Amino acid sequence: MIGSLDLNQKEVVIVGAGISGLLIGYHLKKLGFKITIHEASGRTGGLIETTVTPYGLVEKAAHSLLVGEELKRFLTELNIELLPVNEDSKARFILRGKKMRRMPLSFFEIIQTLIHFFSKPSNPIDLNSASLQEWGKTYLGAAPTEYLLGPFVSGVFACTPAELNTAISFPKLLPNDPKQSLFRFLRSKKSAKKSRTQMMVPRDGMQSLVTSLSEALKDDIILHSSIQSLSELKSPNIILTTPTQSLASLIESADPVSANLLRAVSYSPLVTVTVHYHRSHFRKAPPSGVGVLIPRNEGFRILGVLFNSSAFNNRVQSKDYVSMTVMLGGTTDPEALQLTDSAVQAIINDELERLIGTTQNLTHLCRTNWSHAIPIYSLALAQAQKSLKEGFCSKPGLVVFNNYSKDVSIRGMIETLIKD
Ligand SMILES: Cc1cc2nc3c(=O)[nH]c(=O)nc-3n(C[C@H](O)[C@H](O)[C@H](O)COP(=O)(O)OP(=O)(O)OC[C@H]3O[C@@H](n4cnc5c(N)ncnc54)[C@H](O)[C@@H]3O)c2cc1C
Repeated sequence: MIGSLDLNQKEVVIVGAGISGLLIGYHLKKLGFKITIHEASGRTGGLIETTVTPYGLVEKAAHSLLVGEELKRFLTELNIELLPVNEDSKARFILRGKKMRRMPLSFFEIIQTLIHFFSKPSNPIDLNSASLQEWGKTYLGAAPTEYLLGPFVSGVFACTPAELNTAISFPKLLPNDPKQSLFRFLRSKKSAKKSRTQMMVPRDGMQSLVTSLSEALKDDIILHSSIQSLSELKSPNIILTTPTQSLASLIESADPVSANLLRAVSYSPLVTVTVHYHRSHFRKAPPSGVGVLIPRNEGFRILGVLFNSSAFNNRVQSKDYVSMTVMLGGTTDPEALQLTDSAVQAIINDELERLIGTTQNLTHLCRTNWSHAIPIYSLALAQAQKSLKEGFCSKPGLVVFNNYSKDVSIRGMIETLIKD
């Protein structure tokens, strides 16, 4: 969250009924605020949408949450039934040398990683401006940066570690003193109480979270209400939850400097394709695990695959089918958005056959193109956040809260609300 509310006034107007607008609206309503939410489109949820096909659930955007105790309580209160990862499907893989591996580093590379981890950095980095790539090479070494950080970042942000600013994307990884080893830094933080988190999905898909929040706010949401200027809003507290371009237009006259910086923030482009295969259409047993991430130098166009029906129950209508979500595109392959459906299908047929032994018989495919999927937590975003804090949001009553104000994940957004 950037900025603070005027707590003497228990009235708030929120722009945007994506998950961030709904979450903050719900939270403030519980605290006794009178809420009004303006949503430009005819539905709530923004990017999030679950559809039920004859084969199983299809998530358009977010599919899972990292759930700790506080988040579990929050979701239980909303009557969201959560499913954990199936006991026998907890493995997460990274492809290296054409093989899906739980540990993609060699013995020698693990030793080198440990040496980096325990040593003071020989070339300390600038803590404010360092990219995650620089952080990785400094504190872990080249191999884990390429084979662990790279795929992980591509799985979350659909970009590369070089594009992320460490201070805002993973602030907890940043030592206070650049000359400290990562080991010493993490040991000094150990005393802080951490709650254990686990990957979970709402039983009936992410839509159930949207539906539940929308139901709790049903008298407070105005659909088809696109706000073009802040002067339309008469309230002591205004919370803006829209994507960067829309926020830039809204604050243009109040804070042109932040508006310009927001326009320079980029988003990763992404194609997500949920596919269903009949079980008989695998040359060997369907894969078991959470999914696989694929480093860019492995000769695949696919960025990663989530093994939906292996990892979670209630993802397919019948046990005869296997559901997986394939990700293509990202900042390294923006052209993927222009591929025709049959070209996407051809890539999936070819690459899943090589990866997990599917035959060509894809039963069902559901594709979503995202030109602006995930905000990139870059130096440009760090500058925009700082400018908003010192400019538009410096007065109590003007707040920005969304997936680029602090944390890209829904878990992060909920935790921010609970803690702030
Ligand atoms: C493919 C994909 C997979 C993902 N997977 C995960 C995951 O597994 N877990 C996770 O935690 N996160 C995940 N995410 C991220 C998560 O889905 C998003 O961060 C989150 O949904 C963004 O919500 P939001 O409310 O900030 O923005 P949006 O969903 O973009 O909502 C903004 C809303 O504002 C409205 N709006 C815009 N301008 C105006 C205006 N002028 N007036 C009124 N209304 C306006 C829009 O219509 C929209 O409804 C994923 C994202 C993608 C794309």
